[in-house]
Amino acid sequence: MSLNHVRPWRNIYRRKSRQIMVGNVPVGGDAPIAVQTMTNTLTTDVAGTVAQVQAAAEAGADIVRISVPDEASSKALKDIVRESPVPIVADIHFHYRRGIEAAEAGAACLRINPGNIGDEKRVKEVIKAAQDHNCSIRIGVNAGSLEKHLLEKYGEPCPEAMVESGLEHIRILQDNDFHEFKISVKASDVFLSAAAYQGIAEATDAPIHLGITEAGGLVSGTIKSAIGLGNLLWMGIGDTIRVSLSADPVEEVKVGFEILKSLGLRHRGVNIISCPSCARQGFDVIKTVEALEQRLEHIKTPMSLSIIGCVVNGPGEALMTDVGFTGGGAGSGMVYLAGKASHKMSNDQMIEHIVEEVEKKAAELDAVAEAAE
Ligand code: SF4
Repeated sequence: MSLNHVRPWRNIYRRKSRQIMVGNVPVGGDAPIAVQTMTNTLTTDVAGTVAQVQAAAEAGADIVRISVPDEASSKALKDIVRESPVPIVADIHFHYRRGIEAAEAGAACLRINPGNIGDEKRVKEVIKAAQDHNCSIRIGVNAGSLEKHLLEKYGEPCPEAMVESGLEHIRILQDNDFHEFKISVKASDVFLSAAAYQGIAEATDAPIHLGITEAGGLVSGTIKSAIGLGNLLWMGIGDTIRVSLSADPVEEVKVGFEILKSLGLRHRGVNIISCPSCARQGFDVIKTVEALEQRLEHIKTPMSLSIIGCVVNGPGEALMTDVGFTGGGAGSGMVYLAGKASHKMSNDQMIEHIVEEVEKKAAELDAVAEAAE
């Protein structure tokens, strides 16, 4: 339950955007902020790509993007879409035929910049294919590939140039009476991205896809994305996010969710609150948290678990969590349930025991949620 009415300093006022559909996933308006990732297999490797899409969906991805660089990939896309548990966005660069093929293959959304297609007749053909197949479009402005005339006008990639580029693409879609679109204005530089996103957020009511492009590896990219995307989300900007990491797509999904969870914008799975540990710890906090993160990956119910080394902070943190464990003396600690001290448990059986308690609590919360539906 949100307690933001008594804690106004936690409030985030979300920008009002139009809602569009990406397959069966609403994006924008009051829809939950969708988490996306992108496959990095060869699209023509249908089995490998489907496996990656499924793993990403299992980790919580709402939408997955797939590159469609050639005709063989368009063909493969049809089989992938059929097997996918989530809507697929087809990533198209310049080739209008790929856009049409992807819409025909069942893509839920095309990532394509209409201004890059060139010929007006071809633009109309792509838009018609999208309309005919219930396919939305994501305009993806990127600081690294801005149009020549804008670079000449502004001298270098800057927020104004990115916003202008976005508005030019938007105009083409609107002139063709196409309104099921969202937009991103990505840069690898956090400052440039943030300024461009703020500009586009003011200039349009289209849903916004957030991302810091080419953010880097798992650690550096996570930090960069958390700062850049976190800052925008905190301002209320963003209807769907993708964390770009040079890492497994599943990691992108996990990081995306953690960013949203940190801001209280979405909840999924067990939120573990744990101390960094020190000489006072009554058990090995770091190893325990590592083991629990793995053992609790299957839990999708939003809930909280505190794993705290000693009584300095243990009881206080346990007060706010569904399940808690606080280290004590003589090889055992205290288990807390719904904020109250419940029973003692020996350190060597505690991981198994906590997994059971969390599973029990998750089933209980699921039953309550089901009854309320
Ligand atoms: S809660 Fe206890 S064990 Fe954990 S860091 Fe603080 S003092 Fe150390």
